Amino acid sequence: MDLRFTEEEVAFRKEVRDFIRQNLPARTRERLRLGYSPTKQDIVDWQRILNKKGWATYKWPKAYGGTDWSPTQRMIFQEENQINHAPEVNGFNITMIGPVIIQFGTPEQKAHILPRAANLEDWWCQGFSEPGSGSDLASLKTAAKRVGDDYIVNGQKIWTSTAHHADWCFALVRTDPNARKPQEGISFLLIDMKTPGITVRPIISIDNSHHLNEVFFDDVKVPVANRVYEENKGWDVAKFLLGNERTGIARLGKSMERINYAQELARDVRQNGKPLIEDAGFRQRVAKLQVQAKALELTQLRVVAKAAGNSDGKPDPFSSVLKIKGTELLQDTAELVMDIAGPLAMPDWAKELDLLNRESGDNEPLIGPEWAGYAAPPYLMLRAASIYGGTNEIQKNILNKAILRL
Ligand SMILES: Cc1cc2nc3c(=O)[nH]c(=O)nc-3n(C[C@H](O)[C@H](O)[C@H](O)COP(=O)(O)OP(=O)(O)OC[C@H]3O[C@@H](n4cnc5c(N)ncnc54)[C@H](O)[C@@H]3O)c2cc1C
Repeated sequence: MDLRFTEEEVAFRKEVRDFIRQNLPARTRERLRLGYSPTKQDIVDWQRILNKKGWATYKWPKAYGGTDWSPTQRMIFQEENQINHAPEVNGFNITMIGPVIIQFGTPEQKAHILPRAANLEDWWCQGFSEPGSGSDLASLKTAAKRVGDDYIVNGQKIWTSTAHHADWCFALVRTDPNARKPQEGISFLLIDMKTPGITVRPIISIDNSHHLNEVFFDDVKVPVANRVYEENKGWDVAKFLLGNERTGIARLGKSMERINYAQELARDVRQNGKPLIEDAGFRQRVAKLQVQAKALELTQLRVVAKAAGNSDGKPDPFSSVLKIKGTELLQDTAELVMDIAGPLAMPDWAKELDLLNRESGDNEPLIGPEWAGYAAPPYLMLRAASIYGGTNEIQKNILNKAILRL
């Protein structure tokens, strides 16, 4: 297995990098460089710029407006976006609902949903988890009862990322409560978030951001035409959706970018009369993270190289290694930046986040340098990285079974 990049891949990386540097709005770049999450508008603007170039749907087949990039090119594209402070495309649209509709959708669903998802005319959210049904997703209880040409949906979803921005939700619902196995009584519905009976209630995260929500369904009418695939076969769709992501799961580019950023900061920050970058302890810590990033990059290349030569469509269990190590590295690099800020990471960063938006007109001076005010929120929010997308404990169970055969 040759893990070196070919000349074409090196040229492709440069093409992507140049495009991002020339087209990414400066305000978005600055927000992400400081460690702030992109706003909805940042994501919409960037995805539309990419869509115009034909790159937003880079994971879709060419016949549906995608690219014919190899898995390695897709990995490079993602990495360059992360390293160069660009927002990632909306994953619910591009990685989840798009491929599901391409695989299972009717011609009408394809014609209507795909172009709107690509250009972010519709923002999608994922209604899978419920209170008590997260890792054990098949136990979900939200009920959909068929009445004529509609389903009447009742129940609750939780941890629904960006539901407050969403126009549509793809949801797993129970259509047969008496099925032999819990997996057999589930259907996959597309729900218009403007339908009467839907209530979105915010969950404020530890970093004071509003990313998560509870979503309540109270006699919500959903046309049967909005079901994807067969009734009670929604679990097949869910498995396809959850297993679809082979590359990029580690978000390695983001960790690499944070290591570079930490070194940049450490040239300015002084400790014991010297720039922090000259401190042996600091240098060792950075070197350790760099070695881990390199090891992860090689593992990712192995997974990607295998995916390129294998078309069985099944997720590689080694993706679980990428998820575990990738999220640990994201957490460790965010901690490194926060440690550089030291006590200056402590001031009222919620107010400072507001200052970044400038619309508030609040121009109270900051206690420390501007960057230090943004060091804590990513550290806090990334605690969740080892939970979402399947917890790291569940990934270890997958490895136990599939690789260690325990
Ligand atoms: C930031 C964030 C965004 C999210 N976004 C969405 C979203 O948009 N849509 C959506 O549907 N869901 C979303 N989720 C929910 C996410 O998928 C669940 O949190 C996750 O699947 C875990 O489920 P749970 O929270 O119910 O925890 P549980 O499943 O109750 O797990 C609790 C703890 O027990 C451990 N555990 C559980 N079962 C086992 C086992 N068999 N072996 C070993 N350990 C086990 C877990 O690892 C965990 O540490 C999001 C979560 C977060 C944190």
